[in-house]
Amino acid sequence: MPPADRDLADDAPIPVARPVIGEAEEQAVLEVLRSRHLSLGPRVTTFEERFATRLGVPHASAVSSGTAALHLALRAVGVEDCTAEDEVVTSPFSFIATANAVLFEGATPVFVDVDPDTLNVTADAMAAAITPRTKALLPVHIFGYPADIAPIERLGLPIVEDAAQALGAVHADGTPVGGRGNPTIFAFYANKQLTTGEGGLVAMADPGFKQRIDSERNQGRAPDMQWLDHDRLGFNYRLSDLHCALGIAQLGRLDEMVAARSRVAAWYREALADLVDRAGLELLCADRDGDRRSWFVYVVRVPKGVDRDATIRALADHGIQTRPYLPAIHLFAFYREKFGFRDGQFPVAEDASARGLSLPFFAEMTQAQVERVASELTVVLTGRP
Ligand SMILES: *Cc1c(COP(=O)(O)O)cnc(C)c1O
Repeated sequence: MPPADRDLADDAPIPVARPVIGEAEEQAVLEVLRSRHLSLGPRVTTFEERFATRLGVPHASAVSSGTAALHLALRAVGVEDCTAEDEVVTSPFSFIATANAVLFEGATPVFVDVDPDTLNVTADAMAAAITPRTKALLPVHIFGYPADIAPIERLGLPIVEDAAQALGAVHADGTPVGGRGNPTIFAFYANKQLTTGEGGLVAMADPGFKQRIDSERNQGRAPDMQWLDHDRLGFNYRLSDLHCALGIAQLGRLDEMVAARSRVAAWYREALADLVDRAGLELLCADRDGDRRSWFVYVVRVPKGVDRDATIRALADHGIQTRPYLPAIHLFAFYREKFGFRDGQFPVAEDASARGLSLPFFAEMTQAQVERVASELTVVLTGRP
């Protein structure tokens, strides 16, 4: 059995995440190696075009990470060379990169609390936080659940959507998340729905944004310029052809992987039903009003009063890898020190952070593995099988 396949044996430790990598991926990367065209080659454009087509938007720019995508998308909408008076309204319940990208340009993240069901920011909460100094709004589709973007658009400010966790999610009107035309970022680290190892992408409608992002990812070079010519400040945020080849192969099986994740989520819902009814375990919200989640993680909230971190240790003793997920950004020490954030400011996000437990979750997970996780969790939470 190849080493990676041991993860799928019945009695093996169960990892928290695991990418789907098969022959298509191996072949795609080998072809790039054999072509000797490792960067700035044809795979970058192919990956971008296929991704954009899938979302139904005119443009996409592949970059080196989701964080780089956030940085360049924020700059494109005008969050650049800021002072601390410039504000970007966003969610404290996200991966830290969302807020860090605002700091890269010297602006201040203004957090608003999240909806208790979806854990996404709402237009109403954002509206209440807007000031004359608000430069942009940065909603996050957390845990793959579509944030309600239409009413956020009506607030009339530049928007960047963080869809790093939401590739494959669909809004109630049938538009894919990332398909509304606002600059929307995706990320391709190994635990995301689609992976290139490391990588990110900005999808967008505006050709001017596309041109600017393509230049800024490549040291400030315009497409018609020579190798060592530069007409603006840029970065090296390029994504190589090796990565894009992986991305193209993964796009070819994306529907299958998203469907497999959703099947695993359904097994979990069934296997955990008893713990929900009898022990007060809380699950992520079901799809409602036509919005469709793309399952990224299987996060549960341990019952109030239960020690989440002790739960993680107890599960680890039984070969089940879980994670606290995810920490509220405003409570990290350097955010507290820099901006004076305190406990209690965003109670919904803080409660979700304190009780959130990310269970093993990946497309190839078996029903037997799901049942094993559920039964170990039952023993840990209730003291009996
Ligand atoms: C993963 C992630 C990112 C950043 O992506 P990287 O590729 O790791 O830089 C940004 N925002 C959210 C919500 C994420 O989950």
